Amino acid sequence: MKLVIFGPPSAGKGTQAQRLSQKYGIPQIATGDLLREHVAKKTPIGLKVKEILDAGKLGPDDLIVQIIKDRVSQPDCANGYLLDGFPRTMNQAKELEKITDIDLVLNIGVDTELLVERAVGRRICPKDASVYHILNNPPNAPGKCDKCGTQLIQRDDDKEETVRKRLKVYQDQTAPLVEYYRKKGKLMDIDGSLGIDGVFEQMIRAISRIKA
Ligand code: AMP
Repeated sequence: MKLVIFGPPSAGKGTQAQRLSQKYGIPQIATGDLLREHVAKKTPIGLKVKEILDAGKLGPDDLIVQIIKDRVSQPDCANGYLLDGFPRTMNQAKELEKITDIDLVLNIGVDTELLVERAVGRRICPKDASVYHILNNPPNAPGKCDKCGTQLIQRDDDKEETVRKRLKVYQDQTAPLVEYYRKKGKLMDIDGSLGIDGVFEQMIRAISRIKA
């Protein structure tokens, strides 16, 4: 099963992708996470994309497509995978078609102001990547990771100005892909305002329809 999870920044793609990956036993491939890993390790790719990420802009298509090609050719992807954050441009969608046939695109829709609130309140643990929210999912001790006690941080691209820029980039470059996949009959709309469990249940229902 090959799935794509779509949605504006902070729509909850990562959270849902993690759950789907566990439920269906397929790896989650998050281009944002892969790029952030490169940045953290200061690899040549990381040095090239750090400023792009911090500015909330999109990385170059050829580089992103190569990262995806390398990743999906690994053995754990043999039974399928879940793409989170890819494709993000029409060019990437066309390149993806050359690599494989996608079964379903899950499109999470959420109101813009709610997205800003979610992103700006998000805090992550730099050590184990746990995700919190200062209002909706606060850690037990303020500012500290529940699992390892590490001081939580805010991602640079979760600062409000950058979040709004990322939303604009999404509207301009990625939103057109929604109609592209809808016309192909591969898209299922998911109401992203329903909370984590409600969103997950809608996704499971959509997937069971393609598996039936
Ligand atoms: P995300 O964690 O999915 O929000 O991605 C964080 C950042 O990584 C984005 O703002 C982009 O700078 C970059 N990025 C992630 N996926 C892609 C992609 N498919 N194409 C271009 N840039 C990407």
